[in-house]
Amino acid sequence: MLLHGEGFLHWPMLVGKLQGAQVARSSLEEGVPVPRLQKTPHAGHRPESYEDMEDLEYPATLYSVMEQHLPSHCLGASREKKLAMLERILAKYRPNGERAKKHREYRERIRHNYQPLHEDLYTLDPERFFVGSFLDAIKDGSEAAIRHILIEHSPGVFTFNMLKPAFCSMMLEEVEHFERWAQDAKVKVMRPNTMNNYGAVLDDIGMEEMLNLLMTSYLNPMAAVLFLNVGGTSLDTHHGFVVQYAMDRDLDLGFHVDDSEVTLNVCLGKQFEGGDLFFRGVRCDKHVNGEARPEEVLEYSHVPGHAILHAGRHRHGAKAITSGQRTNLILWCRSSEFRELKKYQRDFSSWCGECLLRKKERSRRLSSAKRQLAS
Ligand SMILES: [Zn+2]
Repeated sequence: MLLHGEGFLHWPMLVGKLQGAQVARSSLEEGVPVPRLQKTPHAGHRPESYEDMEDLEYPATLYSVMEQHLPSHCLGASREKKLAMLERILAKYRPNGERAKKHREYRERIRHNYQPLHEDLYTLDPERFFVGSFLDAIKDGSEAAIRHILIEHSPGVFTFNMLKPAFCSMMLEEVEHFERWAQDAKVKVMRPNTMNNYGAVLDDIGMEEMLNLLMTSYLNPMAAVLFLNVGGTSLDTHHGFVVQYAMDRDLDLGFHVDDSEVTLNVCLGKQFEGGDLFFRGVRCDKHVNGEARPEEVLEYSHVPGHAILHAGRHRHGAKAITSGQRTNLILWCRSSEFRELKKYQRDFSSWCGECLLRKKERSRRLSSAKRQLAS
């Protein structure tokens, strides 16, 4: 819960609706934050009927009964959103092996039946994918060349021109093509994470190798320079997906941190208004709900083709779009080495703004105590 504090900026959007920052995770992972069912049903609430929904895993009546037990702030959501919440709750109780099996089958089904629209997208072609300035900086490889193409909007939030317009259009078309195929084939699209109800995992549709190469050959040189303290030198796995915002789809994305060490977020288009990203500083698990300092507060408007690179622990969200449609390509880059080491650490002052502040305060108190003893 965020509290008012002197000298701190208060962000009203975060209070009430989300009770602080959530952690967005891949839908298949453990520890997914989901609403908690209430013991007593809402007697006055008339639940939706889910009878006409396709591809339900359990009898439709179960979802209606469960809906009455959702926390009251969830009851007003759209039927699709409520269904997504309920499915997440149910997924928590499904044995892990079964979930993994379902995912394997989903990928197999796509691999055998889905015919890509743009085969070119599945093999990384730097000249066709990337703009010249980005390519030159990576080829050069020096810190100076990398920093030369970046704008640092607030500490730890970098942007740069990355993808050619032709690539962006092809990717948008591919995703739309996939959605149409899934609809026709009655394949239920597995969503990219616990917070987005629209979009698709690019790794699931055959782009895993391409995205892995994108990370290892093009992002790792940047991350090694910019994200030294959060595992940027040892990124080894990724989760790649697209998210879609539109007036009839998800409008915004609540305040959260990503399940990644470094996140790449590139706007693919199309036409849209609103939908700015907001950032509120990097925090460890313990301090994730703390206030932001004024210098950590940033709002950023997306530019198609331009990328944002930030630490996964950099708290952020997306404001509602006010018209049109916005699709973004997102790559969560992870470091197994960093995650393993983190388990044994308690002080994260090398990257958490709050840990750093407390460490400074401790050493200030210590030196003033020493001075007093000496005098
Ligand atoms: Zn901390």
